[in-house]
Amino acid sequence: MSSIKIFHFMPDKLNLYGDIGNIIALKQRAKWRNIEVEVIDITDTDQLSLDDCDIFFIGGGSDREQSLATEQLKKIKTQLKDAIEDGMPTLTICGGYQFLGSEYVTPDGTRLEGLNILDIYTESKKDRLIGDIVIESETFGQIVGFENHGGRTYHEYPTLGKVVDGYGNNDTDKKEGIHYKNLLGTYLHGPILPKNHEITDYLLKQACIRKGITFEPEQLDNTVEEAAKQAIIKRLLKAK
Ligand code: GLN
Repeated sequence: MSSIKIFHFMPDKLNLYGDIGNIIALKQRAKWRNIEVEVIDITDTDQLSLDDCDIFFIGGGSDREQSLATEQLKKIKTQLKDAIEDGMPTLTICGGYQFLGSEYVTPDGTRLEGLNILDIYTESKKDRLIGDIVIESETFGQIVGFENHGGRTYHEYPTLGKVVDGYGNNDTDKKEGIHYKNLLGTYLHGPILPKNHEITDYLLKQACIRKGITFEPEQLDNTVEEAAKQAIIKRLLKAK
């Protein structure tokens, strides 16, 4: 049986709004393809090597947890940057997404240094961007999720898509997230993967390609997942 390893970064601290559900979705859709998944919880990065990491996952966290987690991430900054450049499938949610940039400025003006892996900048305001969100993505089609963040993120990289309803990266761009190589960064909780099977399969498929293992069947029967997603979209857009 083929197998992949998912590195779950600081699951005890970074698990807002059920982000752990992303791991469950990855495991289940891998299982349906006869791919075994080993999840490795990362709480200390001192001796960590990303050499056999197939998918790296970072969930969201409050400002306090975010600064604690940044200290751990700093120790693997070069490894993480190199792995992202090499195409390691990576999913980062909200606080996890903000970490990748140069800094995160809190509502009281405190500057939390980021990893500076990518040219991303985030500043936070007291009024939060909260609610359900619908995105139109060229790569993934319609994406749905829930967002709750004070941070406004700015960058020039390709994004996950255009915001149809909701906020996304900030109050002005009408774009959501980042898609750089096989790195996906997003403000979407919900959690994002169970609600959006296309993104789950994308991460799994890239991991399989990179590891040289078969990703079959390419398509699963997504009737139930699609019905659930369309029900959410219909409800949200109708409410407007
Ligand atoms: N602290 C960050 C913000 O409010 C991240 C929150 C989150 O991960 N949901 O912008």
